[in-house]
Amino acid sequence: MSRLAGKVALITGGNAGIGEAVAKLFAREGASVVITGRRKDELDRVAADIQNDKGMVLAVAGSVTDESHIRSAVAEAVRHFNGLDILVNNAGIGDFGKRVHETDDETWSRVLDVNLTGVFRMTRAAIPAMLARGRGSIVNISSIASLVGIPLLPAYAASKGALDSLTRSIAVDYAKDGIRCNVVNPGLIATPMAAPLMGNPEQLDPILDHYPIRRPGKPEEVANMVLYLASDESAWVTGGTFTVDGGMTAW
Ligand code: NDP
Repeated sequence: MSRLAGKVALITGGNAGIGEAVAKLFAREGASVVITGRRKDELDRVAADIQNDKGMVLAVAGSVTDESHIRSAVAEAVRHFNGLDILVNNAGIGDFGKRVHETDDETWSRVLDVNLTGVFRMTRAAIPAMLARGRGSIVNISSIASLVGIPLLPAYAASKGALDSLTRSIAVDYAKDGIRCNVVNPGLIATPMAAPLMGNPEQLDPILDHYPIRRPGKPEEVANMVLYLASDESAWVTGGTFTVDGGMTAW
């Protein structure tokens, strides 16, 4: 049975990595999916894959830093598919390799603008459509960097820590309206974001020493958790923090 039959889902950053895996899984489970991202060629590639698999998809190119794009992505979802039930705030960027005293204002602002303020903007735009529906599930993609100290990514860690807090705030404010909000905290996942590490055993091996299941995760393994939280199977689950990390934070 399709776990998202009749649902409409908007996935930011649906043209690569974890977001692509979520969009494809959701479409296979019967959802109509709206995917966003800045690179139109990659959006078109993912949309074609979903259509070839007989899925329902709409691609809207733009940035989560652009309020007019955000409004039009939500409006297009509602116009095209008659509503919005699920929002996956997945779009994110990293800026790795520096400590706090080496981090400039531009880097700090850029990372927070996408990873935190982008989620705020997109959620603010999506909630009225969910209120109109009387239901909704919001899933935010954070990181284990919000839960444990990981070297050399202060802006990223701060953005994801605040995202976990924002998740809990949304959860308590909208539970009475039938809207749930949860956060998924992946460990190292083999996506384009992590590509520089994947081909470099000298850097990768010491990182994997921190993982009881000693390998990087797959985007599909995060998507499976997102599917559970988006679906009605998690109807009594809100404000939760869900690690998908090969046991990294259990050590
Ligand atoms: P990728 O770099 O593979 O994909 C990032 C996605 O975000 C792309 O679709 C990209 O599309 C989109 N994106 C980036 N900036 C913007 C923007 N300003 N507006 C709209 N879309 C944007 O990364 P992952 O798939 O690995 O990351 C997805 C999420 O998972 C992120 O939030 C990341 O922080 C988180 N994560 C990843 C981990 C990993 O090890 N890979 C570990 C823990 C968390 P485009 O460039 O076309 O805009």
